[in-house]
Parts: sequence; structure tokens; C-alpha cells
Amino acid sequence: MQNQTPSGTTKVDPIVATPMISLVIPVYNEIEVLPLLFERVRKVMHNINLAYEIVMVDDGSKDTSASYLIQQAQHDECVKAVILSRNFGKEAALSAGLEQAGGDVIIVLDADLQNPPELIPEMLEKWRDGADIVAMKRRNREGESWVKKSGSYIYYRIMNRITGPMSIPEDTGDFRLMSRRSLDSLNQLPERNRYMKGLFAWVGYPTHVMEYDVADRAAGETKWNYFNLFGLAFEGITSFSVAPLRAMVLLGLVTAALGGFYGAWIVVEALLFGNDSAGFPTIIAMITFLGGVQLLSIGVLGEYVGKTYFEAKQRPLFIIQDVVQKSVQRPSEHTSIALEGTPVNVTKD
Ligand code: UDP
Ligand code: MG
Repeated sequence: MQNQTPSGTTKVDPIVATPMISLVIPVYNEIEVLPLLFERVRKVMHNINLAYEIVMVDDGSKDTSASYLIQQAQHDECVKAVILSRNFGKEAALSAGLEQAGGDVIIVLDADLQNPPELIPEMLEKWRDGADIVAMKRRNREGESWVKKSGSYIYYRIMNRITGPMSIPEDTGDFRLMSRRSLDSLNQLPERNRYMKGLFAWVGYPTHVMEYDVADRAAGETKWNYFNLFGLAFEGITSFSVAPLRAMVLLGLVTAALGGFYGAWIVVEALLFGNDSAGFPTIIAMITFLGGVQLLSIGVLGEYVGKTYFEAKQRPLFIIQDVVQKSVQRPSEHTSIALEGTPVNVTKD
């Protein structure tokens, strides 16, 4: 089963000359787009003419997506339906799909056709040219509000500054191609807080960034609102950096210094000019300001403590209720056996 030779010689491996492709697609209430998705994906894969599987993860959909996927899996051996026991969120659904994927090359797509499957041949070409990861970068963000656009611009700037040597390519989402070895490294990461974008970047490996035009959603509605997006952004930062804690220390130092200077100034003012200091308003201002700073700091601290709490519980990231596949081609324990011999200490170029 192991098809990876040591780093650098991947492409001479005979299995990799005709790689098996795994498409991993998380699905949550997407029944309106699923027929079109299958149609387009099948057409593309048919033209590529390589063995493939489509790993569809139903993330606890409330509509009929799950039964549709099961039906597809029962009729087409290329489709594997992974049904989660409830909605665990996209990041968990994606992790489930990636664990179930058995291919030599793994491609992650959104179900809503915002990531055109027609780009797969081009992505494979980049992989053949030596990239382990082909990260897809959104070229146009039209149709998105300026709040979202500028928010994302600022976010990537901050994120990449505070996470040190690892860098998350700007405007890339989960749409990407991964080689078997990079996925094996990713699957080894044990943490429960899955900020996939960050984890993809963390594992490293030669990465090619390819630009593409995001399509509009084929049907249905986005599941993200500003509140979720803020949560995801904060999750990203706190999962990969303790910079907010340091910022709190800095803020504490600055406020303490300001307080000290102000106290000294009151003394000087009273001695030199004999001024009575106006007590009440200053005290209220100080208390409110310091109270705010303290609450904020405790909140940030709490976020980290909470994260540790969730990691310590060691709960699984998701629960797979069912895996439906017409004829089993590869064992699902794949990931654990494939880890052996995978070069993990690869230096990043
Ligand atoms: N998704 C999921 N679980 C969720 C929310 C979304 O599996 O809890 C899937 C969804 O079906 C889609 C992908 O994640 O395939 C991206 O979701 P969406 O289009 O809502 O996000 P956006 O494209 O707006 O970022
Ligand atoms: Mg979408």
C-alpha cells in the first residue's frame, strides 16, 4: 500500500505515475447542488482517465443530502459516503473525509461548486511538476461585501505576522490538492482545535499557489455569518500563536506606566501649583478603563485555558455513523498504516 519513496524521488514511483485521486467534499444541507456537483465532477474525472474516489462527508445535514449520497454510493463504486452522526462543523467534516481518503493525490472541494472541479487537471499538472500542495487562491472576491474583503486582508496580515515562520497563503481556502505524504503528516496532528487553513500551512512541503476565479454558489446559501467568521478568525490566531497573551502583557505594562505617570503628575501639580485634583471623574475614568483592560485580558486568557480544556478531554473530532461504499477498494484504516516511512522531518523550501 505504501507508495511513497523518500523525499525527492516521488515521481518515479510506478504507482504514482498513474495515481489514484481522492476528492474530499464536505456536505451540509446541499441537496439542491448535489446532482449538478456529481455531474460536473464525473465529467472532469472521466476525461482525466485515472482511478478516483469521491469521498462525500455528510456533516449531519437536515435535508435529504445524506440519503442522496448513500444512494449515489450504492450505485457507483467511485463514491464513498461518510455519514457523520450530527453536524460537527466544516473543519471536522473535512478531517473525517481526509482520514477516509485512500488516494495518492487528495483534492478538497466545497460542495457548492464555488471551487470549479474543471481545474483539477491543471492542479494535477502542478503536482506532477513537484508540488506536494497546490493551494488555490481566490482571484476575485466580487460579490463579497467590503467589510468581508478588508477584514480578510487585515486578518491575513496579522495572522502571518504573529505566527512566525509558517505562512498561510493569503486568500486561500480549503480548496487544494495534497500529496499522500503531506496528508499523512496532516492526519498525524492530534489536536482537537482544527483550524484547517493553519494546519495545512503548518505541515509545510513544497507548495504551489494557483489563482482561480471563485464561482457563485450554484444554489442554496452560505452557512457562514460574520459571527462565525470572527470565531474562525479568532480560533486561527489562538490555535497558532500566543501573541494575544503577549499583547495583554504589553497593554498591562503600558496602562500601569500611564497610571504611574498620571499619579506623579497629580503630586507635582499639587506641589507646584497647589491645584486640587478633580477626584471623582478621574477615578471613574480610571476604573472603567482598567476594568475593561482586565476583562479583556481575562477573556483572552480564558480562551487559551478553554482550548487546553478541550484538548485535555481527548474527545474524537467527529463520529462516523456510517460509511457506504459499493465495493470496498481500500481499507479505511489506511491512514494509520500509511504513516510508517513517511518522511516527517522534511525541510521546507
Ligand atoms: N459545510 C459543512 N459543515 C458545516 C458548514 C458547511 O460541511 O457545518 C460545507 C458546505 O456544505 C460546503 C462547504 O462546507 O460544501 C463550504 O460551506 P459554505 O459554502 O457555506 O461556506 P463559504 O463558501 O460561504 O465559505
Ligand atoms: Mg461556499
